[in-house]
Amino acid sequence: MSTPGDILLQAQDLRKSFSLQRTMPDVLQRRPRRLLRALNGVSFDVRRGETLGIVGESGCGKSTLARCLVRLHEPDGGSLTFKEQDVLALSGPERRTYNRRVQMIFQDPYSSLNPRLTVRQCLAEALSVHRIVPASEIDARVVRLMDLVHLPREAADRYPHEFSGGQRQRIGIARALAVEPEIIIADEPVSALDVSVQAQIVNLLLELQNELGLALVFITHDLRLVHHIAHRIAVMYLGAIMEIGPTEEIFASARHPYTRALLAAVPRLVPGRRSGATAVQGELPSPLAPPPGCPFHPRCPIAKAICRQDVPGLGLRGGPWPAACHFAGPVEAPAPLPRQNISLL
Ligand code: SF4
Repeated sequence: MSTPGDILLQAQDLRKSFSLQRTMPDVLQRRPRRLLRALNGVSFDVRRGETLGIVGESGCGKSTLARCLVRLHEPDGGSLTFKEQDVLALSGPERRTYNRRVQMIFQDPYSSLNPRLTVRQCLAEALSVHRIVPASEIDARVVRLMDLVHLPREAADRYPHEFSGGQRQRIGIARALAVEPEIIIADEPVSALDVSVQAQIVNLLLELQNELGLALVFITHDLRLVHHIAHRIAVMYLGAIMEIGPTEEIFASARHPYTRALLAAVPRLVPGRRSGATAVQGELPSPLAPPPGCPFHPRCPIAKAICRQDVPGLGLRGGPWPAACHFAGPVEAPAPLPRQNISLL
């Protein structure tokens, strides 16, 4: 695999809220529209050739973040730069170029494929709209794409409904690759697939990353998966990043109480490792009414008075990687484990 290199994409303090429709009681009682705060100031970068895993519980803002990165949602605030270019200011041809360079793979490949187009037509459309190759070379490029995702060449003339879920995800990956991206944002790309097929798709993504030098942002709730594939992980909670750093070091010695609680829920992640932490307790608070101070304080086993008042920013606080906790834990010596192909069976 490629060695992670310089910064390609950088998000700074990204914010996104959704204004909810007022219900009849809201109208009768003249209550204002409620705001769902999906992203509350998210900052991170994506480096050339790396896999960044973004993990967290359902409803923590992972998918909203993915959609903001490819501008399916427009952030309300903050900045997003791609190779030092202001992404949120792009329009016209420059925006189309950005959309080529940063492609998304969706959880449900079927809903993202046009059922009326064969695979060949689907790939040819992407190649011609973005003028990737001359018309005379499209057939050859389709063959190359089918080979890259390990689908039989003759399957190019079939329709999406004729494929299994895993094969459809391969088609989705081929379509993303058709426009020669530098970053792929994969939003829960295997969570709808059988376990045996999940491993095949994940290994395909890693193989393509190696071959094409792609950066991969892998969004998932599956800590086992992210442990195997990601160089770095960002742990999200209630629309903010709680901790971001190298995967092995965080799995060996997480600094944030939320990360420790998540890891404690899957104790066999690191063989022989025992954790004194308890799994995360209680419900995720509503993003309609986030708690003041640290967003994790209602569930945190070591919360103090300051935690209920002051928001802890994502900072180093004397540690080797950033954590958003007033009392970010000390770091023990990590036990490095090699990144490897995955078998989920
Ligand atoms: Fe817990 Fe306080 Fe740290 Fe938040 S800031 S995670 S409440 S110790």
